[in-house]
Amino acid sequence: MSATTPDDIRNNWQRDEVLALFNQPFNDLLFTAQTVHRRHFDANKVQLSTLMSIKTGACPEDCKYCPQSARYDTGLEKEKLVDVERVIAEARAAKASGASRFCMGAAWRSPHQRDMPAVAAMVREVKALGLETCMTLGMLDDQQAQQLAEAGLDYYNHNLDTSPEFYGEIITTRTYQDRLETLDNVRKAGMKVCAGGIIGMGEGQRDRAGLLMALANLPEHPDSVPINMLVKVAGTPLQDEAELDPFEFIRTIAVARIMMPKAHVRLSAGREEMNDQMQALAFLAGANSIFYCEKLLTTANPNANRDMALFARLGIERESVATAHDNSDQQRALERQIAAADSSAAFYPA
Ligand code: SF4
Repeated sequence: MSATTPDDIRNNWQRDEVLALFNQPFNDLLFTAQTVHRRHFDANKVQLSTLMSIKTGACPEDCKYCPQSARYDTGLEKEKLVDVERVIAEARAAKASGASRFCMGAAWRSPHQRDMPAVAAMVREVKALGLETCMTLGMLDDQQAQQLAEAGLDYYNHNLDTSPEFYGEIITTRTYQDRLETLDNVRKAGMKVCAGGIIGMGEGQRDRAGLLMALANLPEHPDSVPINMLVKVAGTPLQDEAELDPFEFIRTIAVARIMMPKAHVRLSAGREEMNDQMQALAFLAGANSIFYCEKLLTTANPNANRDMALFARLGIERESVATAHDNSDQQRALERQIAAADSSAAFYPA
């Protein structure tokens, strides 16, 4: 079947064939995904990113899943753009804990021009530590994308969230086309694209297929594809959304891996609610990147020791950044963490 030919990098996926992948027997799907994965990656390496919120809450957009929207009362503590020194301190700590990429997120519709110098300084300083840099600041015009690229930003994250058909159920304050234009501006400026979506928002399997088609049928596949499981935050319109079958989430990861063979597929938000077995299945399905920190912008994430304990049990090693300088300190820090890890460690409170 052409859809499962491992080396086939394609940008012309059709819905029927994507749905056929989704509906394969689970074992067949995972076998295909793992086969594709091994053609392009070391199956026992996972990339670690750390995420810091550099500006929290009071966002004018209406994304129904998001506790940072000013439209929903989620009790979130707002914070203005943090200063560069704080970012540097957190990036240093992330590097010492073994992260190879430092992502900075701001709850903006799009960045104000007045904030661009500070944001550019963050990129330069974090990069000087030997970390890859990523930002998510909302929509970017071509000039802003250029400014960030000139500052040395490696990745820009801007998710498509869901399928074009379901999108209007989730967000009304920006269009799908706006999102595609931002991704285009990022790519044209020479940065790598990080784009994915959220699963479990009430969409159907056709929409999950549609999201992956929208990503895989871009002129170039995104370099990173975060697949988030909805975190149902009290106060948001999706707080009572029905649970998605966890195997459907794993299927989505596997289909993403098959459709975008060279992308890092990131197991992102919602990991705190997954047990170790489900995370192991996600790695088997082709996920090879995680957020590795106590918080994902505003929601809890498994603590680092638990992650390291799981990696040790699965024989997984972290993927080192190609541009990193001397990583021996990081490696030693990781080894200390693994040795001290308590595999029964509980989740951080939300
Ligand atoms: S997802 Fe981003 S754009 Fe949407 S409300 Fe949250 S912070 Fe704003």
